[in-house]
Amino acid sequence: MPQQNRFEKQLRDRKAVLLGEVHDALLRIDAERNAEVAAQVRDTKDQAAIESLAEIGHAEVERDLGEVRDIDAALQRIAAGTYGTCVTCGAQIAQERLEAYPTAKRCLHCQQSHERGSTQSLI
Ligand SMILES: [Zn+2]
Repeated sequence: MPQQNRFEKQLRDRKAVLLGEVHDALLRIDAERNAEVAAQVRDTKDQAAIESLAEIGHAEVERDLGEVRDIDAALQRIAAGTYGTCVTCGAQIAQERLEAYPTAKRCLHCQQSHERGSTQSLI
């Protein structure tokens, strides 16, 4: 499945960029606020550690981490062989939609119903 591999590379590259941004943002914020936390951040490239440090609460990085979690979910679907299949109705998600949103887990139709149905959820 060469096409899935292409999405996988795209997702992994994007994830690396996001984690780098989160890492830098935490370093910048915490250097001002908490030297001890900053030292912890500086010493790690570990995703779990970065996420737990981010839980201290920085609105700026929460959005990036949300996207990282979407990417992780997409990578899990690739591993499970369900990537590109709508989680709601089981239909194939349009190629153009995956090109534009590689983390899409619903077809356009289900996504629109989902967004109408639950205004609280951002995904
Ligand atoms: Zn669907």
